[in-house]
Amino acid sequence: MRVAIVGAGPTGFFLAASLFKSGPENLTVDMFEKTPFPFGLVRFGVAPDHPKIKNVTRGYQKTMDSPRFSFFGNVTLTEDGGQGHITADDLLRHYDRVALTVGCQDDRKLGIPFEDSKNSYSATRFVGWYNGHPEDRELNPNLKIKHATVVGAGNVAIDVFRFLASPHQRMAMTDASDHSLEALKTNTIEEVDVLVRRGAWDVAFTNPEVKELLDFEDVQFCFYPDLPPLDSPPPYADRTSTKNMEVFHELAGRRIENPRMTVNFRFQVSPKELRVDSDGQVKEVEVCHNELEIGETRSQLRQTDKTSVYPSQLFIRSVGYRGRPLAGIPFHQKWGLIPCDKKGRVTDLEGKVMEGLYVSGWMRRGPSGVIGTNKKDATEVGEVMLQDQRAHQATSRRELESWHQTLLDGGAISKQDWGLLDAWETSEGEQLGKPRRKLVTLLEVQEALNKLKATSATA
Ligand code: NAP
Repeated sequence: MRVAIVGAGPTGFFLAASLFKSGPENLTVDMFEKTPFPFGLVRFGVAPDHPKIKNVTRGYQKTMDSPRFSFFGNVTLTEDGGQGHITADDLLRHYDRVALTVGCQDDRKLGIPFEDSKNSYSATRFVGWYNGHPEDRELNPNLKIKHATVVGAGNVAIDVFRFLASPHQRMAMTDASDHSLEALKTNTIEEVDVLVRRGAWDVAFTNPEVKELLDFEDVQFCFYPDLPPLDSPPPYADRTSTKNMEVFHELAGRRIENPRMTVNFRFQVSPKELRVDSDGQVKEVEVCHNELEIGETRSQLRQTDKTSVYPSQLFIRSVGYRGRPLAGIPFHQKWGLIPCDKKGRVTDLEGKVMEGLYVSGWMRRGPSGVIGTNKKDATEVGEVMLQDQRAHQATSRRELESWHQTLLDGGAISKQDWGLLDAWETSEGEQLGKPRRKLVTLLEVQEALNKLKATSATA
């Protein structure tokens, strides 16, 4: 059985491992990935200062090492609008089963005036920039400012303001991109406002991320309005929100003399509009204040007429991800996801199953959960892929090999290439006392590969 998996992130690797475990011995997996590098969200999403989470790639590398596994990096499944190297039809012709594990690559917007002004970004792009995603290499956010704003109270928002609040030397020990480390050297931010539309009991942060803020001993954390008391929780409060609230109280009680930076959690506010200077650069954010009512599972908010204006020369919205549409594959515009049945079989918008095509991970169930959540998701979809029948004759081995060769001739990065690049990145990192020094652009990758191949040919 021949399987194609599109997207080399955690879900793609969990799926490949589960197919190797439960599928027939002749099952092969060819994985296609748009960037030159494997590991998706682990490489481009996980915060650089969370290296332990990245150890999960050891398991993915083992899957990659299987002789039944091939990798084709720098190969894009054509996106809506026509950019790409391969199509859904190519895959459905050459393979018995095709799985899309492409994650949610785009961001949700706030829908407010001047959202796209200079130095206003989505967290998706900002995180991609500091993590060395090739698409975000040229973001060049200006950190030589005084006031920054982060909107949202999820783990991505906390990753973003932790990056902004980190001194250069803290991040220099990590695999953050060279260009973001250079920018961090110029960081003059004095205050970060974290704008949260509901209350302190409603945040989506998880406990380890909130606890980590206690390590920032020279940062003053302030809370507006004052935190609600710990001993009168709403009925929906659980262990996570209670522990978060305990840490918030501890942070609020700390008085730092001459803080290096101040982080203001501003609850019950929603951005209304950005204001820009004559150069189109963001300078202020106007917010409206929300009233809260206790609901069944969280508070319900109601916007009021009261507004406030805060200075903001860097504005980052972190209000969730959404999928990017792919050519020839149905897409649910409102949800930002690929429509599918309960088992992960891709369907059209009327619910009719498209034989041979599956979706797993964030593009199936939305951008939620931790990396491990995708293992269960991928295992479920893997089982269905193995059970389903498909009346289809895949192309001959010769045709497949010739198609692969065309991709490699066109610049695809193979598993062997990745082995060389991985060794280069880790050895360069080691010399600088960090886990890896990331290559970012395709040009850098090609230059490194040419040198590495020339060296191994003369050795
Ligand atoms: P998230 O956890 O869903 O948080 C999104 C935040 O945006 C929420 O606070 C939400 O507020 C807010 N929001 C949504 N629409 C808004 C609007 N129009 N105006 C103002 N605020 C708005 O999403 P995420 O932070 O992008 O994270 C995605 C997933 O990755 C999550 O499951 C997260 O836990 C996971 N992740 C995990 C880690 C880790 O384990 N270390 C790191 C990063 C990400 P409401 O609650 O009011 O809707």
